[in-house]
Amino acid sequence: MAVPRNRTSNARKNSRRSHHAKVAKHFGKCSNCGKPTLSHRMCPHCGHYDAKLVDGKAE
Ligand SMILES: [Zn+2]
Repeated sequence: MAVPRNRTSNARKNSRRSHHAKVAKHFGKCSNCGKPTLSHRMCPHCGHYDAKLVDGKAE
């Protein structure tokens, strides 16, 4: 198994991790109940998608 020959410096480690930050997800708004939802997904609150009820178990 390969073993690193040299210790990674703090600067190199930190600069590698400079791309690891979390980014906020882009939320849309449900056209039926107005709660924030992920776009191109059924609303988890009311089961609507594109102002239509698509989840059979809701309501
Ligand atoms: Zn909704």
